[in-house]
This record gives sequence, C-alpha cells and structure tokens, in this order.
Amino acid sequence: MMNETLGLKSEKDAVSLWDMTAPTEPQAAPLQDSVVTDVAIIGGGYTGSSTALHLAEAGIDCLVLEAEKIGYGGSGRNCGMVNPGIWLPPQDVRTVLGEQEADRFLGVMGDAPNVVFSLIDRFNIDCEATRNGTIHAAHSSAGFKELSDRADEWKRLGRNVRLLSAEEAQEKIGTQRFYGGLLDPQAGTINPMGYARGLAQAALSAGAKIHTETRALKLSQIGDKWQIETNRGVVTANRVVIGGNAYNDDLWPGLKRAYTPIHFYQVATKPLGSIADKILPEAQSVWDTGMVMFSVRKDQFGRLIVGSMGKLAGKDASQTKYWAQKQIGKMFPFLGKVEFETAWHGKIALTPDHLPRIHSLAPGLFTAVGFNGRGITTGTVCGQALAQLLTGASESEIMLPVTGLRKDNIAFLREPVYEGCFKAWRYYKSI
Ligand SMILES: Cc1cc2nc3c(=O)[nH]c(=O)nc-3n(C[C@H](O)[C@H](O)[C@H](O)COP(=O)(O)OP(=O)(O)OC[C@H]3O[C@@H](n4cnc5c(N)ncnc54)[C@H](O)[C@@H]3O)c2cc1C
Repeated sequence: MMNETLGLKSEKDAVSLWDMTAPTEPQAAPLQDSVVTDVAIIGGGYTGSSTALHLAEAGIDCLVLEAEKIGYGGSGRNCGMVNPGIWLPPQDVRTVLGEQEADRFLGVMGDAPNVVFSLIDRFNIDCEATRNGTIHAAHSSAGFKELSDRADEWKRLGRNVRLLSAEEAQEKIGTQRFYGGLLDPQAGTINPMGYARGLAQAALSAGAKIHTETRALKLSQIGDKWQIETNRGVVTANRVVIGGNAYNDDLWPGLKRAYTPIHFYQVATKPLGSIADKILPEAQSVWDTGMVMFSVRKDQFGRLIVGSMGKLAGKDASQTKYWAQKQIGKMFPFLGKVEFETAWHGKIALTPDHLPRIHSLAPGLFTAVGFNGRGITTGTVCGQALAQLLTGASESEIMLPVTGLRKDNIAFLREPVYEGCFKAWRYYKSI
C-alpha cells in the first residue's frame, strides 16, 4: 500500500526508509526443491545481483540464494552515495597494491559510477537517481586541507573534482557548518533499495534465478562439485560465489574474520516541504571529514536524512533521534523542531587497509568482501569482475588481485572498541 503524498509503503518488517519508499520487490520466490546449476551465488545485494546479471548475460546458468529478501543487507540500508574511488587517497592505494595493480584498481573504481548509472539507464531502474555529484564536506580547517590535497591528487589523475570554498559549500548544502568541500561531479545519489531491487530484476530478466528466504546453511565440496544445503532444498553447482559481505554468517570458516563489522545509523524526518528548499537544492548527498563520519541528504519526497557511525540507541531509537534533532538544529536552525519518520542501522565491513578484497577460498569458490562503506560502486564492479573470472578472464585481468583468505586476527577486538568510541562521540555531540 503506497501513500502517494509521502511515497511511503507501510511495511512491518522494513529494514530502512528505502525499503518503504522503493518500488516493488522483484518476483523472486523461495527455493522449492533441490536443483542443479552452473554457478550458485549466495547473497542478494549488489555483489550477488551484479554477478548474476553479468553471468546471465554471458549465457551462464546461475541462481542467487538470499536468506531474507533482496537488499536485506547493506544494499537496502545505505546512504545512497554513488561515489567513485574509495576512502583511501590514491597514493595510499599505490603503497598497498603497488603501481600496476593500483592503476588498474583506481581506473575501474574511477569509472564505477558510470557503470552504475548506465545500468540504471539500461534497465530503467526506478531509484530516485540524480547525478549532480556528491560533496565531501570539511568539518574543520584541517579537514579542508585534507580535501585540497585530495583534490590536487585527483586532478593529477585527470578527475574533474572541484574544491568548494566555505561560501560555496554553504550555498550548496544550506548550512554554515562546513569549512568548504570537495564536489565530485561524476558521483550521484540514489535510493539504494531501489537500485538493489532493480539490479535483481535485471538479473532475472537476463535469465538468472533468484530465491529469497533461502539461507545457505552448509557448503561442501563433493568431487568437483559444490553442494549447498539450504533451509529449503539442496543446490548442486560447479562454482560458488559468496556475496554476504558484512552480513556473512558462519557458512565458510573464517570468512567473518576477514573484516570488522561496524554499524552506521540513519534517521529520516517526515517530508519537510518548502521550508527545506534551501537545503541541498541540487540534491547532492554529503559526508564529512570528521573521524566519526556524519552524513546528510534528502530524498525525493523532501525528507532530511542524517546519519553517523554506530548502532541505534535507546528505546525506539530515542537517543539517536535526540542526537539527530541536535545536529539538525545546529545545521539548519530555521527548521525548528522536526518530526522523525523512521531510523535504522546497518553493518559495514571494514578491512585493516581499507581496501576491498576478492578471495579465492577454494577451487571454484570465490568471494568479494570488505567494501569499507563504498559498496554501491564496489559491489557492482566486483560482481562484474567475479563474472569475468567465471567466464574465463585470467586473475591478472580483473580489477583486484585475487588472494586467499586474509584474516584480521584482531577484528574481534576492533569491533567493541569502535562501537564504544561511536557511542561516546554521539553522547558528546548530544550535550
Ligand atoms: C548504513 C550504511 C550506509 C552506507 N552508505 C553507503 C553509501 O552511501 N555509498 C556506498 O557506496 N556504500 C555505502 N554503504 C556500503 C554498502 O551498502 C555495502 O558495501 C553494500 O551494500 C554491500 O553489498 P553486498 O551485496 O556485497 O552485501 P549486502 O548488501 O550486505 O548483501 C549481503 C546479503 O547476503 C545475504 N546472506 C548472508 N549470508 C547468507 C547465507 N548464508 N545464505 C543466503 N544469503 C545470505 C544477506 O541476507 C544479505 O542480503 C553503506 C552501508 C551501510 C550499512
């Protein structure tokens, strides 16, 4: 049921605002029986659906197993920023990967928004897509210096980014809070669940099968085949891709130790109407240079959505909403007290060097993981790369080196430390 004015579907089990405002879910049903396929893909987020789409388009028989529903993980909960590149400045990527690998990776990631927006165009995906850039905003003068260094480096690499003065940032964002910003015109903003559903629908149309509410429970290699026991039936496949990312369970031993899961929450106001016209008039989304990142954007119905790192706190997210009210009051005092529609959080997979990974876990078993909060582009192009690998490309041709599983042995220590810091920060920002 859709309320036309607010764009809101009433959905009891919604995982985010986007789950309630994105167009209808693709026609996928639980697995009914035991089946045989060439490639089985576990996880119905961007990575899983992109792998399935590109394999199906290459004529490969494949199916996706999703434990819950399409976009249940990060893909249906994120901030919707379609950014090129990754968090790390390019020179740091070179240090970690070496010149040659870094150039290939940065080239693919630099072009990744084009890949996302051309899929949106090609499959007519209804996901509130706007392409007026995103703004990395400076929370301090040191933050502005960091952004101007980044701008120099990106320009050297031929990217058309623009450093914004404090006044320009104020005009574009509608607040005096920032010291300036870096506008990346290649980037854009989407309804993330709309894109997740559209990508899954595109994979279905190309011939892939998708089974929701079907959790892979056990993965075994039997001869040269893989057998996946699910809660619904058994899948036998020649090759398997795990696209569970931060939502991985214990399906493959040690995979959850490849990254640290951290949370990011968002709070959405009710549609604000014309009083908010001065806020983000060009519909960019914004994140800042603060150590505990802050994000702000609007949706197409005029809701303001603010977010930061950590879990929702308090009964019915009351503490988080209190924090949100404070932040909105500081940034946009002309709004007065706002009413909130909903709040949610999701998990991000953080790797120690902030780079994503493509792992070969066993013969015929691959995964892409650790997108460090940059999964719209990374998940889409990693899915493409996995499909290339499975259709005969050599490991040296794809966007990232393919490695064995690399565990972060202190991930279990990092998680409570990070979450504790985020909590303390939110408390400090609320007083
Ligand atoms: C709050 C938040 C804000 C973010 N903001 C941005 C942003 O603005 N821009 C950006 O680019 N990225 C952002 N990200 C990161 C981005 O959302 C993720 O990197 C991306 O969605 C990962 O996609 P994925 O397909 O790899 O994994 P997911 O979307 O997490 O999907 C994994 C799926 O696997 C399923 N699964 C797991 N185990 C099993 C199993 N055993 N059997 C069957 N299914 C299984 C899960 O149910 C889940 O649906 C954000 C993330 C969060 C949480």
